[in-house]
Amino acid sequence: MKESKYNVCVEHNGQHLMFNSRTTATAALDKPARDILDAVRQGAEVEETELVKAMEKAGFLVDDFINELQQLEVRYNLGRYEKSGLDLIVAPTMACNFSCPYCYESAKSGIMSVEIQDKIISMAEDFARSGQKIKITWFGGEPLLAKEVIYRTSERLIEICEKNKVEYEATIITNGYLLDEATVRKLKEYRVSEAQITLDGLPATHNQKRRLKNNTGDPTFDQIVENIILAKKHGIAPAIRINIDKQTQTELKQLVELMIEKGLGEDLYLGYLEGNTDSCKGYAANCLSHEEFAKTYVDYEKLLLAKNLKPGYPLLHHTYCGADYLYSYVIEPNGNMYKCWNEVGIDKYRIGNIGTCEDYEQFIRNPNVNYAKFLTWSPFNFEKCRECSFLPICTGGCQYNGQRAGEPVCDRWKYVLGDYIKLTCDAS
Ligand code: SF4
Ligand code: SF4
Repeated sequence: MKESKYNVCVEHNGQHLMFNSRTTATAALDKPARDILDAVRQGAEVEETELVKAMEKAGFLVDDFINELQQLEVRYNLGRYEKSGLDLIVAPTMACNFSCPYCYESAKSGIMSVEIQDKIISMAEDFARSGQKIKITWFGGEPLLAKEVIYRTSERLIEICEKNKVEYEATIITNGYLLDEATVRKLKEYRVSEAQITLDGLPATHNQKRRLKNNTGDPTFDQIVENIILAKKHGIAPAIRINIDKQTQTELKQLVELMIEKGLGEDLYLGYLEGNTDSCKGYAANCLSHEEFAKTYVDYEKLLLAKNLKPGYPLLHHTYCGADYLYSYVIEPNGNMYKCWNEVGIDKYRIGNIGTCEDYEQFIRNPNVNYAKFLTWSPFNFEKCRECSFLPICTGGCQYNGQRAGEPVCDRWKYVLGDYIKLTCDAS
């Protein structure tokens, strides 16, 4: 038996807390457990007592025949190549009714044609016929400016999934402004289970940042929050992203309190704003560093705990995001396909066009450079990640950032995992 290389220890209120990032187990170690760990660290053989078995189950101790790094690499590759479903992120339009200062998407008009919709449906049918589930995320632009595309495509996709007895899952990323009662009912009918909607600070800040494109100066905050409440009432789970930059960071406490008052305290998460694409690099001066963002997240979690809401907890990742997964595509209205959301709309980064793609398997077997670069990048190619005890919960971070930096960019756990372990202890 040996000690896991993914143990992270923290002292808190006189307790010896241990977290294992390969299993995400946390425990306060008592004296007998600490003695076992000390013995193992000194290379002693330990008897297989109930306590030793429990420590092995939590991942704190590992059998000598297991190489944890190898196991993680196998798991990572399985997550990347296992054909477990088709994951489509579809923009029925890139047009938007808002003009937010940091938006990474260049404004484009036009709605997805019936021909491109039919190609998406045909690709999904290929997957469904072989028993693969279909997951679709509607995004844009503002996807609700092209509702008919969503309704028509959803109807066909649901039919296909039912006929082939495979799972269908749909979510939407919308600014929420057009989410009226009729739209909510339709989305529910088309099995949209979650709506990700962004708030940019307290009402005054939000109204100034998330402006309507027509420049009427009409406020948007109250309408959006009203629509979120409506969606929740109809069974569409809101995932309210609070964008954090230097300004909204200072308003976070008041905004969270306001959302708790409105019954939305458990539907929030924080979004990191980065000015790293061509269309939003002018915004970079307003952004926090990764470390500042991580610390803001801890303050937010402490606030939740103080309000008797459950703070977050690190989760295991097999891959970091859809861009790492072979069968995940972001599709523009003109049929152009990309791996990463940040590259959408930039022709030189496209991996193909669904409108001209005749054989999906060939397309996968002969990936172009833009496709292959996401499939060949791996945190296991970098010594700093191979040595890192956060690897199972970080997975090397966002590839888009890593490829530009020339090495993986560390995710927030590196800066604040100890704080989370303490928070978990306080919450239990
Ligand atoms: S690679 Fe990064 S920017 Fe691209 S989709 Fe994944 S998380 Fe988002
Ligand atoms: S990116 Fe940083 S935190 Fe993540 S696994 Fe690599 S070294 Fe660790």
